[in-house]
Amino acid sequence: MSGYMLNDEGKLFVQTAREFAEKELKPRVAEFDRSGEFPVDLYKRAADLGLSTVELSESFGGPGLDYITIAAMYEEIGRIDSGFGVSMAASFLAYKPIVLGGTPEQNELYASAIMEGKFAAFALTEPNAGSDTSAVATTAVKQGSDYVLNGSKCFITNGGVSDLYTVFASTDPDKKLRGLSCFIVEKGAKGLSVGKEENKMGIRLSNTTDVVFNDVRIPKDNLVGREGGGFKLAMRTLDLARCAIAPFAVGIARRALEEATQYAKNRKQFGNPVSALQAIQFMLADMAIRTETARQMAIHALTLVQNGLPYGMEGAIAKCYSSDIAVQNALDAIQIMGGYGYSRDMPVEKLLRDAKIFQIFEGTNQIQRAVIASHVLR
Ligand SMILES: Cc1cc2nc3c(=O)[nH]c(=O)nc-3n(C[C@H](O)[C@H](O)[C@H](O)COP(=O)(O)OP(=O)(O)OC[C@H]3O[C@@H](n4cnc5c(N)ncnc54)[C@H](O)[C@@H]3O)c2cc1C
Repeated sequence: MSGYMLNDEGKLFVQTAREFAEKELKPRVAEFDRSGEFPVDLYKRAADLGLSTVELSESFGGPGLDYITIAAMYEEIGRIDSGFGVSMAASFLAYKPIVLGGTPEQNELYASAIMEGKFAAFALTEPNAGSDTSAVATTAVKQGSDYVLNGSKCFITNGGVSDLYTVFASTDPDKKLRGLSCFIVEKGAKGLSVGKEENKMGIRLSNTTDVVFNDVRIPKDNLVGREGGGFKLAMRTLDLARCAIAPFAVGIARRALEEATQYAKNRKQFGNPVSALQAIQFMLADMAIRTETARQMAIHALTLVQNGLPYGMEGAIAKCYSSDIAVQNALDAIQIMGGYGYSRDMPVEKLLRDAKIFQIFEGTNQIQRAVIASHVLR
């Protein structure tokens, strides 16, 4: 696998991901992209193959893989359908605050759900609180030995299919960010409901919904970490998650390059394949430069994570750069394929639709640039 230094066990995991993506996911992607339906049987199959537990440590029954192997696996899934990968990875996004600040019992709850192929959701964003987390209006009021949650979240990945929700709510609205706390809410809690499902332009194999809390009563043991510690948990989670989602964008960029290359070699104009034109060759070369650079940046950020070194800036660069170049590569693939690239009969217009979200979620690329600038100016 180009660009990744993997041991034999890692190579085997990546091969499993590649074969699943190529043989089982790929033939059905167009159908689910059209319908926007959640492909339950494919997710079940991925879980059976061990693909949905890749980020779990051995102590909780997972394979205990290193982040570079996980990145290589995510690139393979992203190459075929990044939305599918996003829904799988979103369970770990929800689980990370628990890993960072949860009790052993809370860790066990999430890990066993993920081991059983269930989904979890990370619920931070609200209608009036996107980039500005201090505007979170969902409240959690302590009543005896319970907390009572009220409010609504939007754009929640896996919102409609999860068994567990990691929810950020204010226990002290006057304190703004320092009043945010993190809670576990289980499916079936009275007053918890799934709202509108988003009809998205891309990553249509993932589920994205509103989640509504109407006097949802949860035991105080469902607080993750301490009261007021929610913002820090959310930011540390997103820092890490940015490094982990970059490989999906690399997968999109790589696929765009592969599709454009294949097409350019076969498409004849003026008596020769268009790949013989230097104008096309230079576009392909630039696509290759961008893909390899983004891959290496993701590997670098994840190597820092793996070794316990600071990775805030590198993670932001990996997320920002890989998503920007995924969009650019998708655009260039369409250009190289001319009118056929613009047709829904070809896979590259979908790559563009899928790539776009990576510039928006887990902190928009403007926010990433603000993060990077703050490191530069420090
Ligand atoms: C498909 C999808 C899945 C998602 N999944 C989840 C999920 O699982 N959990 C979750 O909690 N959220 C999720 N989100 C929400 C996502 O993280 C937010 O959409 C994102 O953080 C941006 O917030 P916003 O959409 O409210 O944009 P806004 O914050 O309103 O931003 C609007 C524009 O202003 C810019 N802007 C805002 N503030 C600044 C600033 N300080 N400096 C420079 N520019 C700025 C933004 O970059 C953007 O261009 C998801 C969103 C989508 C679309």
